[in-house]
Amino acid sequence: MTARRIVVIGGGISGLAAAWAARQAASSRRAALDVLVLEAGGQVGGKARSVTRDGWLVEGGPSGYLSGRPEMDGLVRGIGLADDIVPANRASRLRFLYRAGRIRRVVPNPIGLLTEGILGPLGVARLLAEPFVPKRRDAGDESVWSFAARRLGAQAADRMVLPMALGIFAGDARRLSLRAAFPRMAALEQEHGSLIRGMIARRGRTSSGTLTSFRRGMQQLPRALAERGEFTVRCNARVRALQRTSDGWSVVVDGDTEVIPADAVILAGEPWAMAPLLRPHDERGAAELLAISCPPVGVVALGFGPAAAAKIPVGFGLLIARGEGFRMLGTLWETHLYEGRGPAGHVLVRAMFGGAVDPEAGALSETDLAALARAEVARLYGLTDMPLLEHVMRVPRAIPQYEIGHPGRVARIEAAIYALPGLSITGNGLRGVAFADAASDGVRVGSAAARRLTASALPSQPR
Ligand SMILES: Cc1cc2nc3c(=O)[nH]c(=O)nc-3n(C[C@H](O)[C@H](O)[C@H](O)COP(=O)(O)OP(=O)(O)OC[C@H]3O[C@@H](n4cnc5c(N)ncnc54)[C@H](O)[C@@H]3O)c2cc1C
Repeated sequence: MTARRIVVIGGGISGLAAAWAARQAASSRRAALDVLVLEAGGQVGGKARSVTRDGWLVEGGPSGYLSGRPEMDGLVRGIGLADDIVPANRASRLRFLYRAGRIRRVVPNPIGLLTEGILGPLGVARLLAEPFVPKRRDAGDESVWSFAARRLGAQAADRMVLPMALGIFAGDARRLSLRAAFPRMAALEQEHGSLIRGMIARRGRTSSGTLTSFRRGMQQLPRALAERGEFTVRCNARVRALQRTSDGWSVVVDGDTEVIPADAVILAGEPWAMAPLLRPHDERGAAELLAISCPPVGVVALGFGPAAAAKIPVGFGLLIARGEGFRMLGTLWETHLYEGRGPAGHVLVRAMFGGAVDPEAGALSETDLAALARAEVARLYGLTDMPLLEHVMRVPRAIPQYEIGHPGRVARIEAAIYALPGLSITGNGLRGVAFADAASDGVRVGSAAARRLTASALPSQPR
């Protein structure tokens, strides 16, 4: 029997995870299946970019993921990286906010929030009333901010939830969809009638995962998948078009003279990049993909010596509410999270700019971003030393924004894609924005695509 072929478009973590899972599913059915990943860029990993420079390990995109998802954990073990997992230090549990002119630790209980000045007495009283707030009855979507204001009060929504949305989505909580961005919060309210009661009920039963990375940084996983995943990867291969044929698809790569035939195709690029490929087959589906905005983010890594390190709090990092006189969304303290991210006693600070609240920052040049980061980091922590390391990464279209209405949009995109035989879609634009979400989604989509294609190889197995 000749091997069937799946082409995966996009060599970020979702595409590589899909390719790996497709091969696993085919092997378990003893079916012949060729899997080819086409990546437009010069290396695999997409947003995951780990750079080693002068004794520092700098992340351009994600700096960690939450373990505990079965698909993600299975992928890491399956590709042989179990020994390279690096859980974050305990210090990563300490989180900070900059508010009303000073750095404050987020102590996650009412007294702590009051004494740290994150909430005032009225804000704390309103927070404590949360279990008595009736649950929302209709099934409509609402913004993350309005959900938080309704349940926890406007003060907590403004002072805690707006910065939290900056930290996770580089997004605006007033525009993000609760059901798409924080589905667990929506479920807690629906199942328990209250977030506080729900958290108490679930305590000990569910784990929110452990912050984790790899010895050589987050790009180590995509690299390992590309090297050992038993599928072929072509970099510098930008897919320009997809054509339907009588029994599948033809994939057109920029600069190639011949098309690549495929029985099935998995779209694993960013939503805006996949829209032109879908457009000839479903114009409305393509328009829905384009409507998912991905504002730019600028990441500036600054490495400092021990004198500066002593002035920076120990912990995960700090978020800055808007209106505090900083353009930075916040900073992560990478050397506090994982060992080996910089020379001993030094500190690596990663400052984030841009996102949905300040897209103009994405238009800044590398030089301007670096100057802005140097000035703001020095002012924030009272540093006088110049950084020993400076590394700027601009991500022109960074984190997809799951705005109000996103769940309906995803349903319409899925309907458009799955109406086209052999086509499927994954990636962090649809069903989860984090690294582990993208990887897990890729595993599910890749495995399902292979099972559909190889259903006849072992007739005794269920479809
Ligand atoms: C600055 C930043 C910080 C982040 N921090 C965290 C974090 O700390 N923790 C966390 O969990 N997540 C974080 N994330 C999110 C995380 O990086 C993503 O969820 C994940 O990397 C997305 O993977 P993906 O494969 O879906 O997409 P991508 O990584 O975007 O990969 C898509 C790939 O498709 C390729 N492509 C596009 N079009 C084509 C085409 N026509 N032909 C061929 N190839 C194409 C692109 O070149 C790209 O390589 C962060 C993201 C950013 C930008």
